[in-house]
Amino acid sequence: MLEGVKRALTRLAGSIKEKLETKEVSEEDVREALEGVEYELIDANVAYDVVERLAEELVKRAAGTRIPRGRSVEEYVKELLASSMTSLFSAGATDLAEAAASKCAKGAPYVVVFFGVNGVGKTTTIAKVAYLLKSRGISSVIAAADTFRAGAQEQLRRHAEAIGVPFIGASYGADPASVAYDAIQFARSRGLCAVLIDTAGRMHVDKDLMDELRKVVRVSKPDLKVLVVDALTGNDAVEQARQFNEGVGIDGIIVTKVDADEKGGVLVSVSAVTGKPILYIGTGQRYEDLERLRPEEFVRNLLS
Ligand code: GDP
Repeated sequence: MLEGVKRALTRLAGSIKEKLETKEVSEEDVREALEGVEYELIDANVAYDVVERLAEELVKRAAGTRIPRGRSVEEYVKELLASSMTSLFSAGATDLAEAAASKCAKGAPYVVVFFGVNGVGKTTTIAKVAYLLKSRGISSVIAAADTFRAGAQEQLRRHAEAIGVPFIGASYGADPASVAYDAIQFARSRGLCAVLIDTAGRMHVDKDLMDELRKVVRVSKPDLKVLVVDALTGNDAVEQARQFNEGVGIDGIIVTKVDADEKGGVLVSVSAVTGKPILYIGTGQRYEDLERLRPEEFVRNLLS
């Protein structure tokens, strides 16, 4: 898992270490150390401008420094790299279960709208979130506001049944915003704590889709807007993050299929290009395969 980025970072650490061993490093040294590694990082799905940002962060931290007394070069370089990498991630990821419980305690349901292109694992992810909430004793309802994909309705209904949470569906072509609205009313009338709303995600992200999604947002006034992207789609995932963030505005990202991702760059890039935190990662096909991502811990693992 994530071997591509790991390999590139190990090589980068090696070349900075070589320079630091003999002298104070200059900006030039850092840039030189990055040469070659830059391509490895891009190859591992790190977006080009994110590689640039990493270079800048490294220069800021490393240029003009020497190894502090009593410190091993290796340790020092690792620290430089770790803090540069960590700075690429946005902090402040909402703990969905906590946020839902706290809003529910005030007597209103916590509304989450999920965006994402078809096939990224959005339906499965919504089911995982419902499962997570349920396992913490937080009630929810799943709403299928993708009214053009019969398959999505059916799939979500089956997930809802399997997990044991109510499901609000709609007939083909119904207004997605009204499905979202109905689900919120349903949650209010039954005192449910969370409303999880699926939306349409055509392959080709276009203006009509964005208009439709903006309407769902206007009507449902979500507490959290979540984009789901697939780690295996590389640069497409990064582009989707950019487009959805510009088009509807997102609060956080869930990256799926991390268990099958040999590269790792999508995880490093999506947060950096949007400035929004990664809320969870999908690590398998079972309902329980949803984990928090803690940037510091994640980066430490990449560098270990
Ligand atoms: P949607 O079209 O975006 O709703 O995608 P689905 O939820 O139907 O998921 C597409 C496929 O990806 C399914 O076979 C899921 O089991 C699989 N999938 C979703 N999330 C993960 C994950 O985190 N890891 C793995 N390995 N597979 C996943």
